[in-house]
Amino acid sequence: MPGFEKFDDAERKEVQEVLETGVLFRYGFDAARKGRWKAFEFEKAFSERLGVRHCHLCASGTAALSIALAACGIGAGDEVIVPPFTFVATVEAVLLAGAVPVFAEIDETLCLDPDAVEKALTDRTKAVIVVHMCGAMARIDALSALCRKRSVTLIEDACQSVGASFQGKALGTFGRMGCFSFDPVKTITCGEGGAVVTDDETRYRVAAGFADHGHDHEGTDRGREGHPFLGTNFRISELNAAVGLAQLKKLDAFLAIQRAHKHKLVERLRPFPHVTMRQIPDEAGDSATFLSFFLPDEAAARKTAAALAEKGVDGCFYWYDNNWHYLRQWDHIKALKAPAILPIMLVEPRPDYRSVHLPRSDEIMGRTISMQIKLSWTDAELENRMDAMARVFDAIG
Ligand SMILES: *Cc1c(COP(=O)(O)O)cnc(C)c1O
Repeated sequence: MPGFEKFDDAERKEVQEVLETGVLFRYGFDAARKGRWKAFEFEKAFSERLGVRHCHLCASGTAALSIALAACGIGAGDEVIVPPFTFVATVEAVLLAGAVPVFAEIDETLCLDPDAVEKALTDRTKAVIVVHMCGAMARIDALSALCRKRSVTLIEDACQSVGASFQGKALGTFGRMGCFSFDPVKTITCGEGGAVVTDDETRYRVAAGFADHGHDHEGTDRGREGHPFLGTNFRISELNAAVGLAQLKKLDAFLAIQRAHKHKLVERLRPFPHVTMRQIPDEAGDSATFLSFFLPDEAAARKTAAALAEKGVDGCFYWYDNNWHYLRQWDHIKALKAPAILPIMLVEPRPDYRSVHLPRSDEIMGRTISMQIKLSWTDAELENRMDAMARVFDAIG
């Protein structure tokens, strides 16, 4: 799964090229940089890879979400529908935009359930952020049709799903904007980095400006650029972009390894009818960073998670107890604890996240285990792992 497993001379060469010029900044310094524009090069290559018109590379996936919200005009008091199962950054970005997260149920895709999203729509709903969790897709066709019909902005958090697709179209290109992360543990990594992609030229310009103090990036003299609106600094450095460029060239090779490993795991686990696989609307498009599976109930899942750990099957996540990825344990978010007063505290009536009740999501997450699929497994390691898993599943069944 994580790209850092496969660093070699390619990353070192890209970084070295930046260090040779001394220009670590992604804009300007035209003469000194000797034609090296790593961030721009990444943006071009990434847009081409995804089949989308525009990409803006930025500091992190979290920054990408903030940029997408700003570029889509989502702000104070706007309701944004989000899933309860995601990395907490999705919710942070909404809260810090001054908007109001509204949680809707997930289904057995482990992503937002389109019917639940429809029920959660109100006349204050401005956006839906669908999160393609653990490498694979939500029912993105139904969600985009719903958002189009109801004139709600769809933003995709594809931070965990770079390289994944639905019916041949890249995840992150269905919504008005798609967000990606290249943090240290993602499928490809920049060290720290993220990206927003869109086909919409205007939103792209706002995104690139917002991430750079509102600069309009017109002309060749940065000192004379205009500032049509305010922004902030969500920029990436050339050093990080250089690492990302080398990693992007390896993405297809990474996907092939992950998919081959997943295929073997799925074949091997087929004889255990009490272990069922996560629903994936288009299996061929799964980036296969994880194998996510269901046990019949919470008790069986807890027993299985403990037995897998005991047998040394590492990299398994029981998200239901995890305090970064599932609402149940987000006490700080529920209490709206922040260093300063958040805009949401001024919303009337103030939402009370302690009383959010999502029985279906609880039921699903209670019996879900995800196992990281590593790039570096040898055939022997994978065989041992599958043997150990088979023994655990035998004992549980
Ligand atoms: C990793 C991740 C993010 C945030 O990305 P960073 O680059 O770590 O800021 C956002 N959403 C999801 C679903 C993620 O997995």
